[in-house]
Amino acid sequence: MQHTTDTTLAGDTLMGTRPSPASLRVLSVLEASGLEAWIVGGWVRDALMGAPGHDIDICCSGTWQQSSAALRAAGVSVVESGIKFGGITAVVEGERIEVTAYRLDGFYTDGRHPESVRRASCVEDDLARRDFTVNAMAWHPTRGLLDCYDGRGDLARRRIRAVGEPRRRFEEDALRMLRAVRFACRLDFDMDGQTALALAECAPLLDQVARERVGIELEGILVTRHGGDALIRYPELMCAAVPELARMRGFDQRTPYHAFDVYDHTARVLTVAGELSRFRIDGGDPSAPPSPSLMWAALLHDVAKPDCFTVDERGRGHFYGHPKAGEVSAGKIMRRLSCPNDLIRDVGLLIRDHDRPLSPDRVELLRQMQRFARSGVDVPRLMGELFDLKRADTLGKAPTCFYYVEEIERMREMCRELIANHEAYSIKTLDLSGADLVGLGMTPGPRVGEALARALEGAVIGAVPNDRNSLLAYLGFDVQSSIRS
Ligand code: ATP
Ligand code: MG
Repeated sequence: MQHTTDTTLAGDTLMGTRPSPASLRVLSVLEASGLEAWIVGGWVRDALMGAPGHDIDICCSGTWQQSSAALRAAGVSVVESGIKFGGITAVVEGERIEVTAYRLDGFYTDGRHPESVRRASCVEDDLARRDFTVNAMAWHPTRGLLDCYDGRGDLARRRIRAVGEPRRRFEEDALRMLRAVRFACRLDFDMDGQTALALAECAPLLDQVARERVGIELEGILVTRHGGDALIRYPELMCAAVPELARMRGFDQRTPYHAFDVYDHTARVLTVAGELSRFRIDGGDPSAPPSPSLMWAALLHDVAKPDCFTVDERGRGHFYGHPKAGEVSAGKIMRRLSCPNDLIRDVGLLIRDHDRPLSPDRVELLRQMQRFARSGVDVPRLMGELFDLKRADTLGKAPTCFYYVEEIERMREMCRELIANHEAYSIKTLDLSGADLVGLGMTPGPRVGEALARALEGAVIGAVPNDRNSLLAYLGFDVQSSIRS
């Protein structure tokens, strides 16, 4: 199947986005050796959207051996990064450009990986195996845009549509379903009707995909800040990715504090947590993606609610123990999805403490910081995320609870001051060390630890300021004579 290109889009730039000099060099070296090469995929999509900055992928008519030989002969270094699937990486002045041979398949992620891939004879056939129309365009500075599936039309309609028959494409590779949702969330696009139908129908096929890949795509969705939309619009798929979510759907909380069922509440919390990361009340960089630990915690903070549900004599619902049980469930889910241990720990701590009563009180806040510090985490960061989670959780409840937001912000401010004033919340932040005590004549051993713990407790309750001499005096050292000696 031969298609014509849109030559009006040929030129030095694609809609104002200029390919990097490194990619142009790779293109020209490949073509000077008699091969055909195109820029494909994400760079073309993003350039057409006026959102430059995507890394550049090139596809080429030659085998990887031919591309590699041509590049090396021209002095370009080559890494044989994916030769099993016809891919190499050209490195020009530190920039890495993926160069892949035209091929008919090679994206399977369900464990049925082919040993090798079948080569395609033309770029059109290579585009046909790509997942979505907006990802299936190729561009060349002199030949222009090759768009066989109306990817541009879908960009204009802001729509994710599978290339070809969606059901068949999802049956071929079920991970594409999560990719569809990730792209829809990231670009803030809708799903084409047929593609959306196929997503719901084929959702159970996600079981065939390696859990680790599911975890990576899921996190990709969460950090777009539109994970809440994903839950609401694509519940079948999201529940296939995390089956524990299914029990939350339609789960009536039977309490005046909640206007929504557990699932819809979770979607709202995800949305607010995402928005908070855009406005960065904490003074952080608003263009940075939201913290994965906050987003996972938002997704899973109430995952144990259905297990902990009781109804009192007045008919009111309670979920005693759901934070602790949620920490355990989240750990199980995230381990299954091969999430890193540090992330699992942070998410567990946020879930464990998300519902713990906390008020703008110096000692209460220091106690909370102490609890985090015991787990060896970055306390200022996790406190910020705890406030974000609490704020998002509050705004996902019923309007009668919204007053608590002001208190949360007072706590955030107080916490910032406590940290700026070098208040102690751990042995590490105490202005006194074991070495100090031993230097003053204490015998190394458990008593040193006990003394430090006493000093920390004194500092936390405000009985003594966190400075070395005051802490020593508090512990009964004769500070004046020890300074003299
Ligand atoms: P980004 O890297 O910014 O998420 P991208 O479009 O570059 O977006 P990649 O995952 O890097 O996406 O893949 C590069 C291209 O390869 C895609 O644009 C798409 O054409 C194709 N592709 C990747 N994965 C699949 C898949 N599972 N099925 C079909 N095509 C795929
Ligand atoms: Mg990419």
